[in-house]
Amino acid sequence: MTNAGTTNMGALLERNRAFAAAGRHEGPTVMPKQRAFVVTCLDPRVEPAGFLGLEPGEAMVVRNAGGRVTPEVLLDLAFVGALAERQVPEGPLFEGPLFEVAVVHHTDCGTGMLADEGFRRGFAARTGASEESLAHEAVVEPERTVRADVETVRECSWLSDRVTVSGHVYDLDSGLIRTVVEASPVGSPAPTGGAV
Ligand SMILES: [Zn+2]
Repeated sequence: MTNAGTTNMGALLERNRAFAAAGRHEGPTVMPKQRAFVVTCLDPRVEPAGFLGLEPGEAMVVRNAGGRVTPEVLLDLAFVGALAERQVPEGPLFEGPLFEVAVVHHTDCGTGMLADEGFRRGFAARTGASEESLAHEAVVEPERTVRADVETVRECSWLSDRVTVSGHVYDLDSGLIRTVVEASPVGSPAPTGGAV
C-alpha cells in the first residue's frame, strides 16, 4: 500500500493535546448532565456538539448512517437505561426522566442514495445486506423517517419506562432544528398527531 505509515490524524492529535492541557476533560460524570441521548447521522455536517452546543459530559450520542434506530441502537438504549436505573434509584432526589432519547434526522441525507435502485443493488451485492433493509434505511423525507424511528423507540419493550423519546429534523440550510415529535415516555401511547 502506498499510503502505509501516513496518517490524517496529525492535526487532530495536536488539538487533543491542547484539549488535555486546558483541562477540558476534567469533571464530567458518566450520567449526562443535560440528560440527553442523541441519535443522529454520521454526516460530518451533522455534528451535535456543534448544533446543540454540547460540552463533554452533557449528552450521550450514537451516530450511524441516517441516524436510524436500528436493533443495535435499541440495544445501546436498553443498556444505558439499565445502567442509569441502577445508578439513580427512583425517589425524591431525582425527578423527571432518566434521559430523553432525541432522534435527529436531517435534510439532504446521503442515505438518500439507498433509494436509488442501481446504487442499492450494487451495495447489497457488495455487502450481503438485503435490498429491502437497505431501502428501509434511506432518509429521503426526514420528517417521515424520524416519526417512524420515534415509534420504534416508544414501542421497544427493552427500554426503561423512565426514559422519554422525541423526534427532530435538522435543516442544513438554516442550521435550525425543528421538533416534529414532542417528548413522551417510552411505552406510552403515541401523542396525538404523532402517527405517520
Ligand atoms: Zn445523513
